[in-house]
Parts: sequence; structure tokens; C-alpha cells
Amino acid sequence: MVKCTICKSQIQGTFLEKINGTYVNKKPVCQACQGKFSIKEIKEKVA
Ligand SMILES: [Zn+2]
Repeated sequence: MVKCTICKSQIQGTFLEKINGTYVNKKPVCQACQGKFSIKEIKEKVA
């Protein structure tokens, strides 16, 4: 089970390592947070 690094909500997995989101610096980030924050902000938050 993968949780978003920023909002801590569960990220729905699709198959194998594919998640309904992305990895930033190897930390999972959900699609909602991807929409809410710019990639620069996300990188700061997961750092
Ligand atoms: Zn999130």
C-alpha cells in the first residue's frame, strides 16, 4: 500500500509498480497533490 508523501492519503495502485500518481525523488505523490502543487513545490515538500 502506497501513501502520498504530502497528504498521506492512500494512492490507488494500478498494477505492479504503477500507481495513480507519480514518484518525486522516489517518494510517492498522488494525482490530487500533483494538481494542487507545482513540481517545484512538490520537490520542496518531499525533500
Ligand atoms: Zn497527495
